Amino acid sequence: MSPETITVDYLIIGAGATGMAFADALLSESGDTMAVVDRNHAPGGHWTVSYPFVRLHGPSNVYGVHSRPMPSDSIGASLASRHEVLDYYDRIMRDVLLASGRVTYLPMHDVADVHPGRPAIAQARSLVNGVTTEIIVRKRVVDASYVNVTVPAMNRPSYGIEDGVPVVPVNQLVELGGAPERFTIVGAGKTGLDACLWLLDHGVDPDRVRWIAPRDAWLVNRSHDGAEPQFRELTKLHGHDSVDAAIGVLEELGLVLRRDVAVTPSAFRCATVSSTELGQLRQIENVVRLGRVRRMDSAGVHLEGGSITTPPGTVYIDCSADGLTQKSPRPVFEDGSIALQPLLPCLVAPSAAVIAKLECLDLDDTARNRLAPPAENPRTARDLLSFYGTRMERLHRWSGSPALFEWLLGSRLSAGLFDLHEMAHPDNRATAAALAAHLGNVLNRDSVAV
Ligand SMILES: Cc1cc2nc3c(=O)[nH]c(=O)nc-3n(C[C@H](O)[C@H](O)[C@H](O)COP(=O)(O)OP(=O)(O)OC[C@H]3O[C@@H](n4cnc5c(N)ncnc54)[C@H](O)[C@@H]3O)c2cc1C
Repeated sequence: MSPETITVDYLIIGAGATGMAFADALLSESGDTMAVVDRNHAPGGHWTVSYPFVRLHGPSNVYGVHSRPMPSDSIGASLASRHEVLDYYDRIMRDVLLASGRVTYLPMHDVADVHPGRPAIAQARSLVNGVTTEIIVRKRVVDASYVNVTVPAMNRPSYGIEDGVPVVPVNQLVELGGAPERFTIVGAGKTGLDACLWLLDHGVDPDRVRWIAPRDAWLVNRSHDGAEPQFRELTKLHGHDSVDAAIGVLEELGLVLRRDVAVTPSAFRCATVSSTELGQLRQIENVVRLGRVRRMDSAGVHLEGGSITTPPGTVYIDCSADGLTQKSPRPVFEDGSIALQPLLPCLVAPSAAVIAKLECLDLDDTARNRLAPPAENPRTARDLLSFYGTRMERLHRWSGSPALFEWLLGSRLSAGLFDLHEMAHPDNRATAAALAAHLGNVLNRDSVAV
């Protein structure tokens, strides 16, 4: 079949949370045209393949797009279900993007080839009928696949599994039937937490659940309701000059929680829990802390730190994918291209919307990049300091740009910046900047000491 050609101002590769937030903000801030291309059949990225009982891991009011609230925004910290997220993105695509007449959506298409230049020329090939659409891009090619999310449905486990060992991906937990005698959850990330909570919610006795947790992680307390604005609460970190002491203060403030009071977590991956969920998780006492699984066979499970046997009737639930991998940071704005990356750790939607707003402001790319330094998603416990420090730094940086600040104040997505409105006062801006600098110093000093 012969190729088709379309001409647009922007090509957005990826219709996940990042691409959708960018497209929506660009649409409302400009008169430009765009093509949104995705390999999946529907918008929403990894949500289209995630396990059925997955919910947002953070409040809905910092997720989605700028122009429309998510249905559960009004219920405060309630977490939207997968159905809600997918329905939301479907409506944004149909009722906002396509309804504008300025967006061409190519689902089930793979962008394999982009020739940079002005204009850039890209080829999007249909994964269904093989027809290639040539896309001539007048302004920029936007990479909305940079965050690189992996969920268990996308990959096989990285450990070896002997034939016959009953290991199922978390997506199949709802299909098991037959009420297995015992469950072993493999993985202590947010997916592992979700699987444990799902079993307990369905009345499985905690004694029938064993949890292989290579590393304990700090958890953000979703039930935290501080008496003061967060930037002021965090001033209690001043005077604490080691990473451990600073984390101790975060825990005392109730901002972060640990699953087991006797274990100091070594990881932090932005997972959140409510106090109710934490109480449930603490009912599971059989936690295996022997590192990562290397192999499973008929004799049992072989981990980095030793082996355990398999009690009869056990089903293993694989929750081991790393949902927060990230490519190396690079400048967001480059000649003819934009690489969408988190500007706030773990908050991809507000970040993408801010980048779209910056694109529409009358700035050059040097100024845009100054307002859009990429942030790395956290991995270890010490990254808790940069998680909070980056937020403080961005509060200061973004409130220093009147046009961006005004837009943020009116955007539903700025809820993730907590005390943004407080930044109208110069003293508060100075406090945020001092906190960010203090946390940066603690991290530097501590790494020199190491
Ligand atoms: C289970 C889970 C829950 C989470 N909950 C939250 C939360 O509550 N709050 C939060 O802020 N973050 C959360 N995250 C973090 C995550 O970063 C975001 O949820 C977000 O959905 C990531 O979206 P994305 O668009 O960057 O990536 P993806 O969802 O991976 O989307 C990228 C898209 O790009 C497409 N694509 C890639 N390359 C090409 C190509 N060459 N051609 C065509 N298409 C291409 C893919 O098909 C895919 O649809 C969660 C992550 C997970 C795994």
